[in-house]
Amino acid sequence: MLELLRKIVQEVSRAPDVEAVLGLIVRRIQRGMMTDVCSVFLFDRSSQRFILRASQGLNRKAVGRVSLSSSEGIVGLVAQRAEPINLEDAEVHPAFCFLKETGEERFHAFLGVPIMHQKQVLGVLVVQQQECRRYDESEEAFMVTISAQLAGVIAHAEATGTINKIAWQSKKRIDHRFEGIPGAPGVAIGRVVVVAPLSDIDAVPDKVADDIALEIANFETALERVRADIRKVSAKLAKRLRHDEQALFDVYLKMLDDNALAGEVVDRIKLGNWAQGALSWVITTNAQQFAMMNDAYLRERATDIRDLGRRVLAYLQEDSGAQSIELPGNGILVADELSPAILGEVSAEKLAGLVSVKGSGNSHAAILARSMGIPTVMGMLDLPYRQLNGREVILDGYSGRLYIDPSDELLDAYREILREQEEVAAELATLRDLPAKTVDGSRIPLWVNTGLLADVTRSLERGAEGIGLYRTEIPFMVREFFPSEHEQMQIYRRQLEAFAPLPVTMRTLDIGGDKSLPYFPIKEENPFLGWRGIRVTLDHPEIFMVQLRAMLRANEGLGNLRVMLPMVTSVNEVDEANNLLDRALHELLEEGYVVERPLVGVMIEVPAAVYQLRRFAKRVDFISVGSNDLTQYLLAVDRNNPRVAGLYVPYHPAVLKVLDLIAREARKEKLPVSICGEMAAEPGGALLLMAMGYDALSMNATNLPRVKSTIRRVSMVQAKVLLDKVMRMDDADKIQALMIETMDSMGLGQLGAPVVPE
Ligand code: PEP
Ligand code: MG
Repeated sequence: MLELLRKIVQEVSRAPDVEAVLGLIVRRIQRGMMTDVCSVFLFDRSSQRFILRASQGLNRKAVGRVSLSSSEGIVGLVAQRAEPINLEDAEVHPAFCFLKETGEERFHAFLGVPIMHQKQVLGVLVVQQQECRRYDESEEAFMVTISAQLAGVIAHAEATGTINKIAWQSKKRIDHRFEGIPGAPGVAIGRVVVVAPLSDIDAVPDKVADDIALEIANFETALERVRADIRKVSAKLAKRLRHDEQALFDVYLKMLDDNALAGEVVDRIKLGNWAQGALSWVITTNAQQFAMMNDAYLRERATDIRDLGRRVLAYLQEDSGAQSIELPGNGILVADELSPAILGEVSAEKLAGLVSVKGSGNSHAAILARSMGIPTVMGMLDLPYRQLNGREVILDGYSGRLYIDPSDELLDAYREILREQEEVAAELATLRDLPAKTVDGSRIPLWVNTGLLADVTRSLERGAEGIGLYRTEIPFMVREFFPSEHEQMQIYRRQLEAFAPLPVTMRTLDIGGDKSLPYFPIKEENPFLGWRGIRVTLDHPEIFMVQLRAMLRANEGLGNLRVMLPMVTSVNEVDEANNLLDRALHELLEEGYVVERPLVGVMIEVPAAVYQLRRFAKRVDFISVGSNDLTQYLLAVDRNNPRVAGLYVPYHPAVLKVLDLIAREARKEKLPVSICGEMAAEPGGALLLMAMGYDALSMNATNLPRVKSTIRRVSMVQAKVLLDKVMRMDDADKIQALMIETMDSMGLGQLGAPVVPE
């Protein structure tokens, strides 16, 4: 059974569209379970009915014609109850509903299992048999297992089915919509540029070949280089290998023959795909076929095929200079996994929008996109992005949607939103030099979070009063090795000088989690609970000391540096970091630099830190709450995982309680407390935090004018009343709804998201 399951899942993932997927499933299950009938009913949203979409055993003419509502038949009952129903004789069941066209009167035994995806019933998988008998436990378990596995595949195939039917050459405009998670607000209209990781045969985008002959020639050249490599290795190892081992190299060369893989690639290029896309298609299709073979030796050959493919691809990419990301004007960059490093490389002027298949709204890539003000959608798990290169799209960063080949009507509607956005931005720009002061006179400094070079100019343009978080790891990410002390000193000095005498809070290197350095890879099962932030730097004093020295030197003659420690869990980490800072200070003084001890703070990001706050108070000068991590650790929700994005709720009562507790504890210790997580960038969140008593709010430069405008329109008394109400509520959704309602009633609604087309 397990073998059958593996085979079905593999085959299904290669099927071109939903119809093919369903056809395959019913054929394989019917044969594998040696039963008379296997059918799939899928829920159709427009008619609200379960339609018979595929069957092996029932009358074929009934497929696509027969349907049931969720209150009809046993199929409806399975869907309603969302659990399996196993009957010896379906006909005698009170819910039985006879579907004449199917010819099912002959079948008595019935087993129906719901196909569930993200709490929704997508459909019902049914097996039937002529004689009266109960399907046994192992058969039921098999059906439940296969249905759970197939739910994701069907959901994905449904989402991509329509797009797959349009060949990548098509010019048809169909408003095809894909849903993801909002990453950064805003709307963008432009053309897709797919960024594929190098040497990844599965990630190569399809592209229309401009010059077919040239693509074939490029492919032949790359191929010849791989052949030469194989011959070279073969000759080198000739004396050391047995004859049969040596023969393997001949097998590889044969695989690359014109009559084998190479011939298939050339045929595919002739159909119009570029060499890399054609190669990727041929390699993945062949490798999948081998991977499904029963013979273990042949199954292993799938690895060889993929390896050969990777080698040819590497040469093709080397020749086409694939390292640099070429963006046309209004480029919408689409990546399998958008990383802060990619963002560091692209030219922001030409970038209109960003899409990431993986990641979520609080991934670091999304945070950076917000700070750059680039509309972004994350977690588009079902997006067939490899086929989108060059396609016109509308990206809606408010609702987290992407429309492919949009119609003129939809384009007009979104152009109108773009115009409105510009008007709001122009209005907000007038606030630049005004203070963030409530109508009853409470003043709260608004700081910015920076990391990219361009952030400094944008922040000053928007009236930031300091830097509450400079993510020092960002400049580390766009390099090929650790920057030297001098290099770091120059980078830091630019931030300090731009803001002096205003405070600049520099966080020490915070790598790990979803931030990795290409030259210092950290591979872990559970990276957010692993080697992150201060844990890494304390283990590597040679890296930490260089950074601390560079910061202290950069602060020479300025005096506006504050040093902040990330991911702190216990007091000894603070003691150790303080000792290293003192050592760096003494070293530099001895070397003749005129340096002084800066203010030192810890980030409150781990729940354990919340409960040691009063102990930290004896050791540091300030604290800053990293609500992004604090939320993920408090709610046990990976901030990077789109599947649980719905559970990542900053307005969760537990999060609000902890934020309030931190502010109260800090007050008791007279310890300045700020917040630099994304919550401060939400106008509603900012109001609550201000009412809790936070001394400063730090946020992305893009949202700062919005937050300032909000604060300037309310009184502290109003904010406190709102906080009081919220703190007595126990449901995150209701809190969210109350916040929206309150913002609207205060006339602050238009500062949020505009109403986008449904
Ligand atoms: C946070 O965790 O809230 C924070 C500000 O740090 P980062 O988002 O960089 O992890
Ligand atoms: Mg953090």
